[in-house]
Amino acid sequence: MIDEVIARGIEEISRNFNVRDCVEDKRIIVTGGAGFIGSWLCDVLVENGAELVLCVDNLASGLRENISHLLERENFSFIKHDIVKPLEVEGRVDAILHLASRASPLEFEKFPIQIVKANTIGTWIALGIAKRKRARLLFTSTSEVYGDAEVIPTPENYNGNVSCVGVRSCYDEAKRCGEALCKAYERQHNLDVRIARIFNTYGPRMRAEGVYGRVIPRFIHQVLSGKPITIFGDGHQTRSFCYITDQIEGLLRLLCVENARGAVVNIGSPQEIEILKLAAVIQRVAARKVPLEFLPALPDDPRRRCPDITRARTLLGFEPKVSLEEGLRLTFEWFKEKFES
Ligand code: UDP
Repeated sequence: MIDEVIARGIEEISRNFNVRDCVEDKRIIVTGGAGFIGSWLCDVLVENGAELVLCVDNLASGLRENISHLLERENFSFIKHDIVKPLEVEGRVDAILHLASRASPLEFEKFPIQIVKANTIGTWIALGIAKRKRARLLFTSTSEVYGDAEVIPTPENYNGNVSCVGVRSCYDEAKRCGEALCKAYERQHNLDVRIARIFNTYGPRMRAEGVYGRVIPRFIHQVLSGKPITIFGDGHQTRSFCYITDQIEGLLRLLCVENARGAVVNIGSPQEIEILKLAAVIQRVAARKVPLEFLPALPDDPRRRCPDITRARTLLGFEPKVSLEEGLRLTFEWFKEKFES
């Protein structure tokens, strides 16, 4: 069964943007399709009449429960497969959405090799399939390619301030290499590639536990269990948080819009907020108060992060619609039900 909050979100996306026009009767591969963003994409594509949505995931950080409700749908198929290994796909493929990668900074220290491989070898394998099938490929890159950006809000033509040997380099540099590979296939094989630089995104189906937990699910989980909220560093670092339905709409617009061939586009929310302030908003939304616990800052943790989304606005007609307060309310509602059931 699909949760109510998610079902409403899927309807909302399909209302805001005519997904059906673009995906109906298409055969689409989603690598990382059992993850947080990937499973939302699978849901929207299945609901909007894709001929086939083929979810490829090794379940390293993705979860079977995110896609279990889709297994009975005749236009959905799941293969447990690590995209760093060769993959033969039968029949036509129209588009590939390559998302497969762990993405939590706490995982960077534990699984750096898997992360490098998923974004380099995995991207190369996905591009090889796209080349053989003449499919369009959308690579989900990241705001991390900018590192500790000196230009805020950060536009796509900022080249980044990244340490190539720091603990985050397994993610930052591998995503940068993934982008370079996409552009190489575009130049050498005239492939239709599109690169989304995803900024912090949150919502139902994020993982809250251990190394998988990003800041919002961790804080919500801490509030729900009456534990202190853990602030890394002084809490004055900033992020801008995009609700999942807005992010999915942005990604699908980038996939679908005809004049976005070869485009590199930031997708996220332009509303910047300090982590300390985020902790306060979450407690307000939850109507619960817990103490704060200050812990050492994570190594190479960017001080500020906020996208310039001018390109997404002009090229894709993208505009985030869900306010932080509303998105947190929906996310809290989903976690509360999951936590208390
Ligand atoms: N953060 C925090 N406490 C936590 C988890 C994260 O203060 O329990 C901070 C983290 O140091 C970073 C921000 O929240 O500055 C966002 O962290 P997240 O793990 O969501 O991902 P990032 O944006 O760093 O990729």
